[in-house]
Amino acid sequence: IWDCNTLEKASSLIHSRPTPILLPNYVAGELSLPSSTSTSFINSYEPKTGALLCRIPCAQPDDVEDAIRHARDAFPSWSKTTRAERSAHLRRVSELLQEHRELFAVWESIDQGKTLERARIEVDRAISNFSYFSTYILHEQTAARVIDGVALTYEHRSPAGVFALISPWNMPLYLLTWKIAPCLAFGCTAVAKPSEVTSMSAYLLGILFRKAGLPAGVINIVLGDGPTTGASLVASSAIDGVSFTGGTQTGIAIRRATAHQIRKHLSLELGGKNPNLVFADSMDPAVRDRTIRIAASAAFENQGEICLCGSRIYVERAAYPEFVRAFTEYVAKTYVLRTTVGAVASEQHYNKIRSYLELAVEEKATFHLGSVPPQLGVNGAQGYWIAPTILSDVAPDSRLQKDEIFGPVVTISPFDDEEEAVRLANESEYGLAAVLLTTDGARMRRVGEQIEAGLVWVNCWLVRELGTPFGGMKNSGTGREGGEYSRDVFTVVRTLHLPAY
Ligand code: NAD
Repeated sequence: IWDCNTLEKASSLIHSRPTPILLPNYVAGELSLPSSTSTSFINSYEPKTGALLCRIPCAQPDDVEDAIRHARDAFPSWSKTTRAERSAHLRRVSELLQEHRELFAVWESIDQGKTLERARIEVDRAISNFSYFSTYILHEQTAARVIDGVALTYEHRSPAGVFALISPWNMPLYLLTWKIAPCLAFGCTAVAKPSEVTSMSAYLLGILFRKAGLPAGVINIVLGDGPTTGASLVASSAIDGVSFTGGTQTGIAIRRATAHQIRKHLSLELGGKNPNLVFADSMDPAVRDRTIRIAASAAFENQGEICLCGSRIYVERAAYPEFVRAFTEYVAKTYVLRTTVGAVASEQHYNKIRSYLELAVEEKATFHLGSVPPQLGVNGAQGYWIAPTILSDVAPDSRLQKDEIFGPVVTISPFDDEEEAVRLANESEYGLAAVLLTTDGARMRRVGEQIEAGLVWVNCWLVRELGTPFGGMKNSGTGREGGEYSRDVFTVVRTLHLPAY
């Protein structure tokens, strides 16, 4: 793999793959293996077959510090570049990603398990991340005002410094670029770390950054696990901020590890267990198909491995039997394993989801669709395939209703009135997203404003403009990202008071 430093060669690897592929870091503009003598390697498997795909060097604390040092060295000049220069760099990255869209999509699908169609959508979103912030930075405004004719005040923003950017395995390229693009746009430099489960697209991104001519050290990518690589990255005193997306427990660990570093900017995008409220009016024949379609995509898109998936479905009792029947029928027809539904990301995750399905059997839940998948390796079971699963008759305090399963598993429960619907929706430690399906305009606002979630979608799901605030309430996170909200993460603001004379 060492001579695989061009996207063209990476493309040829798809067809004649060495097994396993060894992935390098991207530090100071070069692809290289960590130099630490104690480097260990992590195996990463192909979800659709269970075969070994790559080996990932687990960057040790001294390698992490080395990458941070390069990011620090690059900061003074990068932070002084003009917005137009940074915008041009980001534009170039988005154009190159567009040019190599299919390469990224195919690798993302191989590495993560998602369908190729889904991977293409996410590459397009990654392209938008760069093009959006490339444009945003050119039009950024700062506020100025006059205080009673005594002073003119204005807000002066400067880049906050060197960031740790850490992402999970469910949408690897999209989520990593959602951090890299604004970080660079606002004049910061960074060390990024993708999940050890899905590092392939980050590696390709390193090659692409080099091709795009990004100055060395502005963005560095280190590979490795959480406890060693991730933990030393966030805790380093040379890091000024952390933008993290991942599980709530990891978010807590990061908060704890950085608690004494008050100056450190923290943006934590964490887990969810999102409610989907279906009111009887949304099962009116005129809109019924739309309701079912939205509920199904919110549940099963990307195998349910999207933090925003609506996995707790609550249906108004009058429409409950009809919804369960029509929803099950639609999902069975539309979300078909191995064609429109991919494999889940790893063996560990497969086993976790499987254990929840065993719990469902133990608790005597009704399986409308799906069953407990086979134990891997038993009777030749290969690949991490879990069929869409629809459960009902699950107690409100069951772990199936409370825990984030993060796979193709939903529960459906009835509610009697609006008050109960809101109570059930909010009965969760999480508060990331919610879906509301109703035709009643007054209810859209009334219920929408009571749901404790950072993002509420009414009669739609996952539509998003990149300037809107993205983030969760309660244990789903702190801080918001997107447009000017990302600016708050990656810049420091000072207020200047100038005398009016
Ligand atoms: P995770 O928390 O296990 O890992 C996320 C990343 O953090 C990985 O790169 C991992 O190596 C790293 N990490 C682990 N321990 C660390 C530590 N102590 N210090 C620093 N870094 C550490 O999460 P995951 O299993 O990869 O991803 C699934 C989770 O991500 C789910 O909970 C899902 O809801 C959440 N998620 C949230 C959003 C959002 O926007 N809120 C989006 C996608 C996924």
